[in-house]
Amino acid sequence: MLPLKLEVLEKSEYKLVLVVEGISVEMLNVLRRIILTEVPVMAIDEVIILKNDSPLYDEIISHRLGLIPLKTDLEVYNLPKECECSGYGCPLCQVSLTCEVTNTTNASLDIYSGDLKSNDPKIVPVNDFIPIVKIDKNDKVIIEAYAVLGLAKDHAKWQAVSNVAFRNYPDISFDVNALKDAEENDLIIKMCPEKLFELASNGSLKLKGDYWKHCTLCNSCEKNSDEKISVRSKEDVYIFTIESDGVLDYDVLIKKVFEIYNEKIDEFVTELEELEIES
Ligand SMILES: [Zn+2]
Repeated sequence: MLPLKLEVLEKSEYKLVLVVEGISVEMLNVLRRIILTEVPVMAIDEVIILKNDSPLYDEIISHRLGLIPLKTDLEVYNLPKECECSGYGCPLCQVSLTCEVTNTTNASLDIYSGDLKSNDPKIVPVNDFIPIVKIDKNDKVIIEAYAVLGLAKDHAKWQAVSNVAFRNYPDISFDVNALKDAEENDLIIKMCPEKLFELASNGSLKLKGDYWKHCTLCNSCEKNSDEKISVRSKEDVYIFTIESDGVLDYDVLIKKVFEIYNEKIDEFVTELEELEIES
């Protein structure tokens, strides 16, 4: 296997793309599944509706509130079941958010996530413009909500990322001299869904330099060239993509993933040691 190597391909607030070399597909999938289901984040879990003049039912508003991504601080808060209060609700496992809006204008009014006032300035919606509900003039909405840490394996609202996926690193090769038929080359260029082929100045077929970033390994070029083009994937090299909704920074997320992974391995070893295996 290749030595482990990581390269950042793309990094923005909401997307991280890495090229990972020297890792097995099983190991990469373990990391993917931990990111997807085991990293705790904050989400609204309890809602008290004191007044609701809006056209939406209380249950719909509660559901919408639950799905608002909240910035999460993993240093301060405990999972309710691991908290000293045993999940009853205390400042170490719960954040309260309130929303009180009266429409004093002469038109309808939108209530957004930014109207939620948190008692911890670190635990706030990642975006202030997520619509919650619309109210008519003179109408009023008063809501009290409680956010707690949770795991996405219990409910998707606690998912730490929007999506996480990996794909094989494509490796396309062909002999230019075997591809001289202009009609065939045209067909290959036209049929590639990602438009990764082009004609060089001397008329021969060539691949765009960064084709591997976009190739989906659909094999269209292989089929349309009677297998003169070979589509393979590099062994133990993957393109790993994390799409974030901004609840956790990437460094916090990745550190937590390995913490959870180590805990699981320790737990497994302890269980194994306790097993009395008959010889
Ligand atoms: Zn507590």
